[in-house]
Amino acid sequence: MIKVYNPADGSLVGEAPEMTFSEVSAAIDRTCAAFPAWSRTLAKERGAKLRRWFELVSADRQAFAELMVKENGKCLSDAMGEVAYGLGFVEWYAEEAKRVYGDTIPTHAANAAVLVTKEPIGPTASITPWNFPFMMITRKVATALAAGCTMIIKPSEETPLTAYKLLDYAREAGIPEGVFEMVTGDPKSIGEAFTSDPRIQKISFTGSTAVGKLLARNCAETLKKMTMELGGNAPFIVFDDADIDTALAGLVSAKLRNSGQVCISPNRIYVQNSIYDAFAEKLKVAVERIRVDQGFQDEFVVGPLINQSAINKVDALVADAVSHGATVLSGGALARPDSLFYKPTILTNVPDTAQVCQTEIFGPVFPLYRFDTEEEVVDRANNTEYGLVAYAYTPDLGRSFRISRNIKSGMVILNSGSVGTESVPFGGVKQSGYGREGSYYGIQEYVSVKYTLMAGL
Ligand code: ADP
Repeated sequence: MIKVYNPADGSLVGEAPEMTFSEVSAAIDRTCAAFPAWSRTLAKERGAKLRRWFELVSADRQAFAELMVKENGKCLSDAMGEVAYGLGFVEWYAEEAKRVYGDTIPTHAANAAVLVTKEPIGPTASITPWNFPFMMITRKVATALAAGCTMIIKPSEETPLTAYKLLDYAREAGIPEGVFEMVTGDPKSIGEAFTSDPRIQKISFTGSTAVGKLLARNCAETLKKMTMELGGNAPFIVFDDADIDTALAGLVSAKLRNSGQVCISPNRIYVQNSIYDAFAEKLKVAVERIRVDQGFQDEFVVGPLINQSAINKVDALVADAVSHGATVLSGGALARPDSLFYKPTILTNVPDTAQVCQTEIFGPVFPLYRFDTEEEVVDRANNTEYGLVAYAYTPDLGRSFRISRNIKSGMVILNSGSVGTESVPFGGVKQSGYGREGSYYGIQEYVSVKYTLMAGL
C-alpha cells in the first residue's frame, strides 16, 4: 500500500493501493473497452452524468477540503477555493458536452457537400501532480468525458486520497467502470504502460518539464496526441505608475497560495527602480503579518511544503541567491526546527545570475529584481525557457497592450494576481508545454476533426 502522510505533522492520513502490472493493465483494458459505448452515448446523457457528479461532490465539499488540508498541507481556505475551482470544470463541461459543433463548408465540386465533424479522440490517459489534488482530476476527467472519451488517471502518490474520493462519487453519479478509471503505484511503470499502449490516443500530463519530456519521448512510438502543462517561471512586473497596494495584494495572494507550490506562482518579481525600496518595505510588512501554521484555521495561513526535498530545494535556492549578492529582507529559514514549514522569504537586489532566476521555486520565496525601462523588463521577463504566465501592473492602456503582445507566454494577467477559472484557456508555450485546458478550447483537445466529402449527389 502507498502510505499518505500529513506534511504538517507527519501523521498517517490514509493508504492507497500499490497496483501490480496486471492490475494496471486490466484498468487500461477497461478504459479501452468502455470507449465505443461511451462515445455513442448521447451528449445530453454524458452531460447529465457529469452534472450529477458535480451535485454529489458539491454536497460534500467541506469533507473534500479537509482531506486536502491533511494530505497536501494547504490551508482550509485554499482547499475550499480549490474545490470551487475544480467543480467549476465539471459544471462547465457538463454543459459543453452538448456543444461540440461541427461545420459545413461551401463545396468545391459540383453536386457535392462538405461536412466537418468532431469525433472523440478515443481512450485517454492522464498523470497529475500533488499541488491541486482535486482540481487536476476534475479538469481533465470532465473534459475528456464530455467529449465522449474515456480516461484513466494516475494521480500523484503524494495525494491519491482526494482522487479516489472523487472516483467514488463518480461511480455514485452513474459514471461507470472503464469510462473513468484510476490507478496508483510505481509512476515509472504506470507511465510506460500508458505511453506504450497503442489503444490510448492521448495523454494529458501536468507536472515537471523533465517528466513531461520523458513522456513525450515515450509517446513518439505510437504518436499520441498530448496536452502538457509543465513548469513555469512567471515574471510579475510592477511599473511605477501602478497602484502599489493593489499590486502588493495581488502579489501576496498569488505567491503564497498553496505555500508557493503552484506552477503559475510569481517566480521573478520585477519592480521599477523608483518604487523598488518602498515596495520591498511594504511587502515585508504584509508578509510578516501572515502566520505560518497547519491548515485548519479560520484565516489564511502559509502551510508546510509537501516534503523534505521541497524544503532542501528552497533552502539551496536562497543560499545560492545570497552567495550571488542578494539580501534576505525577511524569512530565509524554517519557521520551526525539524518541520516542513518555511518562512515566507523576501530576497532583494537579486542578480539575474542567481539560480533562482531560472528555476521554478515552488516555495514561499519572493525574489525582487530591479528594472529601469519597459523594453528592458520585457527582455528579461522573456529570458527563460518557460512561458506559462506573466503578470504586470500598470494603468497605462498602451503599455498593457504592448506587454500582452511582447511577452512570450500562454497567459498574460494585467492588474490582477488571479489566473484560473473554468471559462478561460489555461496553458503555456515554450517549455511550459502545449495544449489548453478549460473553456471551449479545452474540449477541442479531446476531439479529432473529420472531413467528409459527399460527392455525386
Ligand atoms: P512534481 O515535481 O510536481 O512532483 P513530477 O513531474 O515529478 O512533478 O510529478 C508529476 C506526476 O508525474 C506525478 O503523478 C508523478 O507520480 C508522475 N511521475 C513522476 N515520474 C514519472 C515517470 N517517470 N513516469 C510517469 N509519471 C511520472
